[in-house]
Amino acid sequence: MHTEQIRKLLEQKGIRKTRIREAMLALFFDKGYALSHADVENFLPDEFDRVTIYRTLKSFEEQGLLHKVPDEKGIMRFALCPESCTHHQHSDSHLHFFCKQCEHTYCLHISLPEPALPAGFHAESFEWLAQGICKNCLNEV
Ligand SMILES: [Zn+2]
Ligand SMILES: [Zn+2]
Ligand SMILES: [Zn+2]
Repeated sequence: MHTEQIRKLLEQKGIRKTRIREAMLALFFDKGYALSHADVENFLPDEFDRVTIYRTLKSFEEQGLLHKVPDEKGIMRFALCPESCTHHQHSDSHLHFFCKQCEHTYCLHISLPEPALPAGFHAESFEWLAQGICKNCLNEV
């Protein structure tokens, strides 16, 4: 469990501790890969209904705790943000890695070069998505 980590995180962001918030963050820490609304619903106990889950995901995104993860299949997924993200100010230009075997998406916090764009183009964000086999799946072979 990541109880202490979660308590600190909520405190840092000035978010009141509730059962759903704690349970949801614990889930993201435990899994270590991006989760869709349906995943969260499946993994969390039945006491939390889908509306509460939806609202919590949305508010976590607004508060800089979770960010949206690009997905080629168009399924909306979320993952934990790095510490540099704050309320309404995400800085998530890290690499996302999609594993073709387990179909999980991981955040890889490595530094990436910012591409130089042609004159006249101003990018507000970049999405980096790599595909291949993750280390968990490689180890299973
Ligand atoms: Zn973020
Ligand atoms: Zn994998
Ligand atoms: Zn990410």
